[in-house]
Amino acid sequence: MARSHGERIMRCAEGHLFTAPFSSRLLAAHLGPARLMQCPVDGLWSMCALVHSESLSREELEEADRHHA
Ligand SMILES: [Zn+2]
Repeated sequence: MARSHGERIMRCAEGHLFTAPFSSRLLAAHLGPARLMQCPVDGLWSMCALVHSESLSREELEEADRHHA
């Protein structure tokens, strides 16, 4: 996997998968597992939720790796 350390897979409200920098410090802070951000797939702002890579298929992981926030 080309995903670098500190990047997490996220899913926007529309269901797009992408990778985004996500520090563990932020994770532990008030933001929680979901945050408002601009989806790199459609360019719209939406609530994006953290996705566990273990729960994704190979195809979904490849899709997420094609888009970087
Ligand atoms: Zn999207």
